[in-house]
Amino acid sequence: MEPRESPGEGPREAGIDDGNKHGTPRERDMTTTAESPIPPGQWLGLLGGGQLGRMFCMAAQSLGYKVAVLDPGADSPAGNVADRHVHADYLDPAGLARLSSIARAATTEFENVPAAALEFLARTARVSPAAASVAIAQDRIREKGFLRDHGFAVAPFAVLASERDAAAAGASLVPGIVKSARMGYDGKGQVRVAAAGEVAAAYRALGGVPCVLERFVDLACEVSVIVARDGRGDTTTWPVAENRHRDGILDVSIAPARVPAALAARARDVATRVAAALDYRGVLCVEMFVTRDGALLVNEIAPRPHNSGHYTIDACVTTQFEQQARVLAGLPLGDTRQHEPAVMVNLLGDLWFEGPGAKAPREPDWPGVLAHAQAKLHLYGKAEPRRGRKMGHVTCLAPTQDEALAVARAIRTTLGIAGDDGL
Ligand code: AMP
Repeated sequence: MEPRESPGEGPREAGIDDGNKHGTPRERDMTTTAESPIPPGQWLGLLGGGQLGRMFCMAAQSLGYKVAVLDPGADSPAGNVADRHVHADYLDPAGLARLSSIARAATTEFENVPAAALEFLARTARVSPAAASVAIAQDRIREKGFLRDHGFAVAPFAVLASERDAAAAGASLVPGIVKSARMGYDGKGQVRVAAAGEVAAAYRALGGVPCVLERFVDLACEVSVIVARDGRGDTTTWPVAENRHRDGILDVSIAPARVPAALAARARDVATRVAAALDYRGVLCVEMFVTRDGALLVNEIAPRPHNSGHYTIDACVTTQFEQQARVLAGLPLGDTRQHEPAVMVNLLGDLWFEGPGAKAPREPDWPGVLAHAQAKLHLYGKAEPRRGRKMGHVTCLAPTQDEALAVARAIRTTLGIAGDDGL
């Protein structure tokens, strides 16, 4: 998962008591008009200040909306471009009340948003996705159980709720990965285990919190599908992205994925059915493993736009962020057709440091990147580069996928990114 990098502080499961649980007349009025379209010119609300929120703001503003962002950070990528920044913790009733007094509809840009914040906003505003969907995606145990119970194939797994479960883990799930159920993203909160005897130590190393043990799958590749579903149940998906990770962090997305058309169609169908099973409203990413024998296993779901869908900004009729705004505003879904093959390269903070030992950051060679006429550079405006931190991305577009890949390789060379095997 890749939520914003510093999820909000505070009692995540706590309810929010603002002393007004019964609704004011204004709230009742709002409820009756909750499904009417919100036209451009009005306000949309957003929880979270990261890069996904920034790109949502830009897309919504380009449609003519004003956006209010609630985020505790003083200097955040989304807060800096929003029309208004409500500077508050996600569970601060006054901040949430302020947001819902500005915007009739609100969404989130990270899945670890406290469910209580979405529930609070839902009392007076249209909220998508619903807290119930987000709660499933926030917890690997619920997520995997939900997917399995709804007939979606997932990697074999067991729930580790206690040290005893960990000690009893069976040999059929190793080699495997112990993953913390909550707050894990970009490969964090994971320990690989080669033998059953290592599971208990891995569980302890993760702090003895609830985990899943997942069998290591022999992957042909990883793919994802971004799906948008509106309040009427209408659904669109974008072309499948093929995702390559490095150190657990998305490195490159290639769209369309280099998989057979039938497999791509199956992946889009799985994503559509996952969204329907959740009765989802909003933009959702369904990440999947493709096994060597061509099976599709759902790895995880992210209840928001996703890094692997950034290519839609430059390559598609409607971007994942515009679609998020359309669903939120109750407007018809936009066309998801892709104009041209695209290769998206993530730009991590490591690029700001000349070598592994370098302490002082310096600016990467942006003129060198922009010398490639088919490259679309997106920087997120983060003040402080840190190794492993997502600072931006560049999308390479070309009439053929081979050409787009060649541009991506050239840009990676310009920036000094190593390891393009198989790109
Ligand atoms: P996750 O946080 O679960 O998405 O895991 C991060 C990355 O680790 C995935 O994108 C895969 O590259 C790899 N990974 C996770 N689980 C498995 C698995 N069961 N088998 C093989 N690779 C995995």
